[in-house]
Amino acid sequence: MSVTLDSEVETRIRKHARKGYPEETCGFLLGQVGEGPFGQEPRVIEAMIPVPNQQQDERRRRFLMGPEAFREAERRALEEGLDVVGVYHSHPDHPAVPSEVDRKHAWPWYSYLIIAVTKGEPGPIRAWQLEEDRSDFREETLEVPEVGPSRT
Ligand SMILES: [Zn+2]
Repeated sequence: MSVTLDSEVETRIRKHARKGYPEETCGFLLGQVGEGPFGQEPRVIEAMIPVPNQQQDERRRRFLMGPEAFREAERRALEEGLDVVGVYHSHPDHPAVPSEVDRKHAWPWYSYLIIAVTKGEPGPIRAWQLEEDRSDFREETLEVPEVGPSRT
């Protein structure tokens, strides 16, 4: 399954991750869902909603977004004619691979984008989706199309 990430949204995710370092940053991803078997529809991410990390402690390696933040994201998506297609969060000084805690808290269907931030510097973003039996994540193909020739 493929995920296409708008390059401006990618930039905003990177900025958020850098600003929040050394704590984890998180937010919702809004976009369009294409045709395909359930769970394998291609997604095009067109917007992001940063959400303050509501985790009480261990914010350097945990994140939490409450039900109110989710309702707000759904409301925004509806307004903009989009769907909530996933969640992004950062991994300060840790690879862009889901942790065991991420797996336990993940919902099926959604795309999980993880960005590694090493010593304050945002690195690669990788996309993951929970297997149907919730046993593990599988990696998705993430594409960030170039925004045409640069204007100088
Ligand atoms: Zn994580």
